[in-house]
Amino acid sequence: MLALTWDGTRSRVVADAPVPEACDPTSAVVRVRLAGICSTDLQIIAGYMGFRGVLGHEFVGEVTAGPEAWVGRRVVGEINFACGRCPTCLAGRRRHCPSRSVMGILAADGAFAEYVRLPIENLHHVPDGLRDEEAVFVEPLAAAVEASLQTAAFAGGRTIVLGAGKLGLLVGQVMAARGDDVTVACRDRAACVQVEARVGLCAAAVEDVRRGCDLVIEATGTAEGLSLAMDLVRPLGGIVLKSTIAERHALDLAPLVINEVTLIGSRCGPFGPALASLVEHGVRVTPLIDAVLPLRDGAEALRRAAVRGTKKILLQPGA
Ligand SMILES: [Zn+2]
Ligand SMILES: [Zn+2]
Repeated sequence: MLALTWDGTRSRVVADAPVPEACDPTSAVVRVRLAGICSTDLQIIAGYMGFRGVLGHEFVGEVTAGPEAWVGRRVVGEINFACGRCPTCLAGRRRHCPSRSVMGILAADGAFAEYVRLPIENLHHVPDGLRDEEAVFVEPLAAAVEASLQTAAFAGGRTIVLGAGKLGLLVGQVMAARGDDVTVACRDRAACVQVEARVGLCAAAVEDVRRGCDLVIEATGTAEGLSLAMDLVRPLGGIVLKSTIAERHALDLAPLVINEVTLIGSRCGPFGPALASLVEHGVRVTPLIDAVLPLRDGAEALRRAAVRGTKKILLQPGA
């Protein structure tokens, strides 16, 4: 099968990757209909996680092999494959299982391929009313929902989203849906106009953003984002870190202590509420799509996704 792989040095599309098999009753094979390139994929090819294999963790597809009840169903899939037996798993924190693999990120092949295998417990049925172009956003939207769940104490307050990229615009919409007064901080006025037109959120150039907000969502994907967030948040406010970046920070953290700021790391989230936010709250995802490219052009798609300001690039294995 076709697959977009990373070997530690370069990304390339191979035509002879082995088709995965449903090796036991707990796993399923999914034919990928659409997959999304995310900043994490770009970080991986910059050295993050030391991953080797088939990239990709955002997808929608249909089950082609596995338990009968699942075959033929259109699905999205949670990306952390937990052991299910360790104390962390038994305590209900499966996304943090210390022996987990993560599709396309850590020791498991991902979804930039014609087929991908994952545990059936990770699958979620996609309601008929959702198009593939919407469902493919469930994984990043779940990560946005996680930020909301982690910051219930700040709900309804003034929230600044740093970074008008794909994830920033999803988190901003989720926060607005729960009643926060959301401003997306952009690098310039032109970017602000884009944000308002694409997803209907308020936007302001970074230098115009009013300081002293209750909550900052750091989604710039840069090491400077946290420093700016510390500058914008009020004492006793909160900062959510959403960027996984391969480079290291050198930062004076004393203001966090002095101002008693709550700093929250935030990664993956639950798919159920993310599907609900697409169906019920009308979170707008399709305006975030820049292009849909055939998987065979995957290496070029990665290069294009890395261009600053590019929104979501989707890969279509069947094209
Ligand atoms: Zn991602
Ligand atoms: Zn475990």
